[in-house]
Order: sequence, then C-alpha cells, then structure tokens
Amino acid sequence: MINKDDSVVSGELENTNEEAMELSLRPQRLSQYLGQKRVKNEMSIYIKAALKRDEALDHVLLYGPPGLGKTTLAFVIANELGVNLKSTSGPAIEKAGDLVALLSDLDPGDVLFIDEIHRLAKPVEEILYSAMEDYYIDIVIGEGQTTHAVHVPLPPFTLIGATTLAGQLSAPLRDRFGIVEHMQYYSVDELEKIVQRSSEVFNTHIAPEAAHELARRSRGTPRVANRLLKRVRDFAQVKDEDTISLETTNHALKQLQVDDEGLDLTDRKILKTMIKGYNGGPVGIRTLAANIGEDMETIESLYEPYLLQHGFILLTPRGRMVTEKAYAQLNLPIPNED
Ligand code: ADP
Repeated sequence: MINKDDSVVSGELENTNEEAMELSLRPQRLSQYLGQKRVKNEMSIYIKAALKRDEALDHVLLYGPPGLGKTTLAFVIANELGVNLKSTSGPAIEKAGDLVALLSDLDPGDVLFIDEIHRLAKPVEEILYSAMEDYYIDIVIGEGQTTHAVHVPLPPFTLIGATTLAGQLSAPLRDRFGIVEHMQYYSVDELEKIVQRSSEVFNTHIAPEAAHELARRSRGTPRVANRLLKRVRDFAQVKDEDTISLETTNHALKQLQVDDEGLDLTDRKILKTMIKGYNGGPVGIRTLAANIGEDMETIESLYEPYLLQHGFILLTPRGRMVTEKAYAQLNLPIPNED
C-alpha cells in the first residue's frame, strides 16, 4: 500500500535523507545544469554583463511547478557570480524585522533567495519594495513619542524569488523583478541525461533503455526522475542486478503505481473524481480539492499543470473538464453526449 507520503510526485522533500540526496545531485555550474536552454542562455548573458559592469545582477523571478530546478538554478547563479547566497522562504519570514535582519547581513553583490515568494506576508513584502528598487529600507523604531523612522542603506544585492504560482504574486512585487524566467517541463532526452548523471553520482549503472523509460514517466520533472531512480535502484539491488534493467524499471514503476504516462495515484484520483463525481466537469478547484483531500495550491501548482500540458484536462471559464484522453487513460467509457 502506497500512502500519500510516498508519492513520487509530491512537491515537498520527504525527509532529511532526501534533502541530502538532492544536495549531492545538485549541479553547481551553469554548464552542468541540463535542459532549460532558453533560461540558461539568457541567464548566462545577464550574468556575464553584470560581472563586466561589476554590478549586482538584476533581481530574478523564477516560476514553474515544483522540482523543475528553481532552487538549483539560484545556487548556480550565485556560483557563477562568485557571491554568497542566503536562502529562505516566504512563509519562514514571519515579521518585517526578520527580513531586515536578512537584508542587512548581505555583502555587496550577494544573492538573497526567497523560495515560495508568493507566500510572503504583506508587511514583509512592502519592505522589499524599496530594498529591491533603491537598496534601502525605512524602519520605524521606538514607541509613542519617541517613534522615528530610520533610513537604512543596503549593499547592492540580487533577490532571486521562486514561485510555483506566479499569478498569486502582487503586481508591485512582480514589477520589481528585472528578469523573469518561466521554467519549462524537461524533455525526455534531457531527463534521460539527468538520470544518467544521477546514477553516476549514486555509483550505479542503468541501461539506456531503462533510463529512457524512467525519463519518459517522470512528468518532465528532475526531482521525480531522481526519486524514481532511487527507488528503482532498490529493486535492482534486491535482484543483484549490476545494471538497472528495463524489466526491473517497469516492475518497480508498476509497484510504485506510476502508469505508462507517468501519472501517479493522485493524478488518477483527480481524473476519476472529475469523471465519476462530476460527469467529467466542469469542476471548480475548491470542490475538487475538498473531494480528493489535497490543498488547492498543491493541485494548482503541482498536478494541474502536468495534466493540462498532457491533454488530460482542459481549463474552461466554468472550471476544469476532463478530455477523452483521460477516459482512455483510466479505461473508462466516454458517456454519450445526449
Ligand atoms: P525547485 O526549486 O524548482 O522545486 P530544485 O531546484 O529543488 O527544484 O530541483 C530538484 C532536484 O532536481 C535537484 O536536487 C536536482 O538534483 C535536480 N535538478 C533540477 N534541475 C536540474 C537540472 N537542470 N539538471 C540536473 N538536475 C536538476
């Protein structure tokens, strides 16, 4: 029985073990960062220009579904710039004072990385405006009659924000990013290279056809590919296989309930709920989330983009609807129109 915590798709890191694994697999330089060609080409020009001018790189917003390499790219950018990176996340910065502490600790040119930047508290976000635009913050200190504003200059720095839901970012914040990059799902070829590279880091061998199959069923997402590889490797190990075979890969993916299109249990639950509970839709996101017991943000940022891109669902003004491809995938009959 596979429970939700075992999901190979989930946007969260499962435990400290997985954190350590991700760290070991993270490419350090732009040249090792596979895929995302357009983003890479653009960033490489902006980085070179900033280095030539000896200025801080413009603020960068990276958006796209979880696991596509936003955090990895932020670290790569800092490495290429030869500066330090301080990492935090929107929900972790509770008070304006926390952000002030982070900002005043930066050296000139440093990168501040804020993951899930769409979840920043409003008062915290407002402090960012002047910090990003003119490198200063105004803070109010004292109480009652002694209250006064202090103008604190900051070193020039680069904010790299990452978000899975760019639509939830306020316009004033979005407008302060000079560079906005949309991360795309990876192609099977790119994921195959990532799988091969990760298996080298793991000190294992995987047959080319097995790497291809794994890549094909990884929802265009490096994090999913790495997770699947790690689990498939366990199956191979038990069988004393020197090189992970296609047969073992197929068997492991079946056990993990990842289907031939890379859909997992939750993907199929979403489609099944729409078909069986709502006649294929349209269904609103709130209703769907309540029915399958996931939060709306997870569905919107993680599951829906893949189901949309691969033509299992459509977004209409009245809500999401399943397509004929979804019925076929679940082996369910398409109802008569009349
Ligand atoms: P995000 O921040 O978008 O959720 P991460 O940067 O944490 O995604 O990436 C998840 C994992 O996927 C990383 O640990 C890394 O091993 C792998 N990964 C992501 N992008 C790439 C890439 N372009 N090349 C190689 N591995 C990658």
